[in-house]
Amino acid sequence: MTLSDESRQRLRKTLEDMRQEILDEVRVQIERARVKDHTGDLGDYATADMAAEYAHLFGERLRKRLHLIEDALDGIKNGDYGFCEECEEPITEKRLQLMPFALFCVHCQSAMERQAKMRGETFEEWYGTSRND
Ligand SMILES: [Zn+2]
Repeated sequence: MTLSDESRQRLRKTLEDMRQEILDEVRVQIERARVKDHTGDLGDYATADMAAEYAHLFGERLRKRLHLIEDALDGIKNGDYGFCEECEEPITEKRLQLMPFALFCVHCQSAMERQAKMRGETFEEWYGTSRND
C-alpha cells in the first residue's frame, strides 16, 4: 500500500505548516534574545536556512522536530516518504496523518518504546512530538 498523490500533497502541506510554526517560534526567540542582549543586528535571519541555524540555540526538542520535518519533506520530494526506517514497511496513512514526520511504523515504535522503558528512558523524546505543547 502506498500513499496516493493527494494524501502525499496533504501531508506535505501539513509538514510545511509545522515547519513554518517552528520557524516563526524561532524568530520570536531570536527577537527576544536580541532585545535582551542589545547585541544589535543579527543580520537577515528571515530565511528558513538562517532560522534553522539559529534553532539549535533554542532547545534540542525544537531542533530535533525541525530536523524530522525537513527529513520528511525531503522524503516526499525523493519519493521515499512513509516507510518505516526499521522494517521498511509502509507506515499507515492514519499514523502519518497524526504524525506526518513519523520514522517508524506502529510495530517498530512500540518495540522501541518497550526497550526504552527498560532503560528508563522515554522514547517519545526521540520524536520530539507531543500533541499538547
Ligand atoms: Zn517498522
